[in-house]
Amino acid sequence: MVNAESTTGELATRFAHVRAQIVGAAQRCGRAADDVKLIAISKTHPSSAVRELIELGATDIGENRVQEAEAKIAEVGRDKVRWHLVGHLQANKARRAVDLFDVIHSLDSIDLARRLDRLCMEKQRENLSVLIQVDLGHEETKSGIEEAGLGELAETLGSLERLQFVGLMTLPPFFENPEHSRPFFRRLRELRDELAGRGMFGDRQGELSMGMTHDFAVAIEEGATMVRIGTAIFGERSSRH
Ligand SMILES: *Cc1c(COP(=O)(O)O)cnc(C)c1O
Repeated sequence: MVNAESTTGELATRFAHVRAQIVGAAQRCGRAADDVKLIAISKTHPSSAVRELIELGATDIGENRVQEAEAKIAEVGRDKVRWHLVGHLQANKARRAVDLFDVIHSLDSIDLARRLDRLCMEKQRENLSVLIQVDLGHEETKSGIEEAGLGELAETLGSLERLQFVGLMTLPPFFENPEHSRPFFRRLRELRDELAGRGMFGDRQGELSMGMTHDFAVAIEEGATMVRIGTAIFGERSSRH
């Protein structure tokens, strides 16, 4: 039997531990811990856990599926935190996504960009923050745009009124050794720097959404400004998701 109190205690302990590790990783490479935003990825975990985490101070929650997020957001409250979509977005879910999310990390095509912009217009939503997901690992199962198409998509975003292009996201292949993620993170930073040099993020530097439970320390060393952490906060998921 697990009682609610001990579960909360565990969540609090894990959350505090992750936050301390982020601070440590930032300090080790001379960065301000405040420059790294923690996005707690709650996929497969119940809304009760999300609510508890918000009480513990979480400000940003991420989900990877629109349908699962929809139910959870209804239970937790749309305005309680910033909601991030970190999984692939299908065209037929774009309409719901515009209602549900503050930030979309997985923009990967010009068609989807135009569709989201149109939907914002239709719903009189002033702006929607998006990151382009870049496919650096070329795995069958992972989405994202190829490096070769990044410039054109970024330029398209510049011409769309309602989408605010805030940065880049990547999901490298899984390696046991997190050091092997480093070249992917470094490459994403180079791409971000190139776009920033062309003024694509206005006067901002541009976000880097990279790093998960097993490799976020390396991602922070390579410049991550958003880390997406699920397992280390909420515990193991019962299914691969
Ligand atoms: C599940 C997921 C995460 C979090 O993964 P953990 O290994 O549990 O920290 C981060 N980003 C994306 C896109 C995910 O789908």
